[in-house]
Amino acid sequence: MSCDFLKLRPLHQPCGLPPPPEGEELDCLCVALCQRVRLTRFAAARNDDGMDTESGHDDFATGGCACGAVRYSLAIAPYSVNCCHCTDCQRQSGSAFGLNAVIETEHVRASGPELLTDQAPSGSGAGQTICRCPQCRTVVWSHYAVMGPRVTFVRVGTLDQPALCPPTVHIFTRSKLYWLPLDPAVPAFAAFYAGRDIPALLGEAGAARLRALRAG
Ligand SMILES: [Zn+2]
Ligand SMILES: [Zn+2]
Repeated sequence: MSCDFLKLRPLHQPCGLPPPPEGEELDCLCVALCQRVRLTRFAAARNDDGMDTESGHDDFATGGCACGAVRYSLAIAPYSVNCCHCTDCQRQSGSAFGLNAVIETEHVRASGPELLTDQAPSGSGAGQTICRCPQCRTVVWSHYAVMGPRVTFVRVGTLDQPALCPPTVHIFTRSKLYWLPLDPAVPAFAAFYAGRDIPALLGEAGAARLRALRAG
């Protein structure tokens, strides 16, 4: 038994839930993910194909802005969750880091008013287009210039269940705030990672998704 996140990063901690039935292995990263795996399995066991796809019930995750006007769903798990400690992310978030679930834009479905866009700097220097609710101004995601509009960097804090997206990589740790300890099991890079790091970081499936995006 596994969940999408196993392809992103190796198991590093037990989930604390009761063990799965004999002969079945439940590998997961945290309680929230285990619960999701279990819910999925529960639905499968009931042969429940009556899930309401219109409401996004079988999507990987849902989220929205502070005022509720903008709602969105992620159809599948992100291929990476970047915890960025660059000074731009610190400034823009008003906090210690930016946390982005990185996913193909085609798997993001949004409803509500058209998002406002602003240009903002990014750690790489190439910049990003920030997308926010026109009413409450919450930033729900951005598109980094280096990846283009086909990739969406969803602000994990806007998910209904942010615990679904723990960081799979820490970047720009050279400006990480000193009081923040990092999980040693999660790869960390002083700046951005190199191409040779991608297979280990994203797994086979994630690397293939990234290749497909770059191939255009
Ligand atoms: Zn709003
Ligand atoms: Zn950053």
